[in-house]
Amino acid sequence: MGGKNRTFEESKAIRDCAMGRAFEVIQARLDLQSELLYMYADKIKSLQPIGHGSLTPHFQVCSKDGCMGCLHVRWKRWFDPQKEQRKRNRMYGKKYGEKVVASSFGSKDISNVKQVLPRGDEFKELREIVAAFEKVRGQRAKMIEHLSNALKCSSYLDV
Ligand SMILES: [Zn+2]
Repeated sequence: MGGKNRTFEESKAIRDCAMGRAFEVIQARLDLQSELLYMYADKIKSLQPIGHGSLTPHFQVCSKDGCMGCLHVRWKRWFDPQKEQRKRNRMYGKKYGEKVVASSFGSKDISNVKQVLPRGDEFKELREIVAAFEKVRGQRAKMIEHLSNALKCSSYLDV
């Protein structure tokens, strides 16, 4: 670092250069993380044919005006309402009566996918891919959190 007294413009040019690079890196990383999430999601779907109990991540966007955190992930578990009805009948007898249930599949939101992953060797690869998915998702959420905090700090500037 030279001892020369620098002008505002000189420091701004250097700062802008670094800021531009930083935002390019951040943007590229967010893109890469999103691509990975889609790639893992395809793999997760290919490992579990749609059926009773299958788990799938869903991607959602929240705002048209722009949101750094988009896309957002929601895990769903699919179920066959007729199977659920038969299970209820087995457990409680038919005292509730035969409810008319839809024949198509339904889905429920899952808050912690790792807790509901199927056990057994045949699901080993699925568990690994879901773990990889959740890791990238976590890293992404952390980055968004830091970026949001940086933006919040800049709003404290009161000049
Ligand atoms: Zn969003």
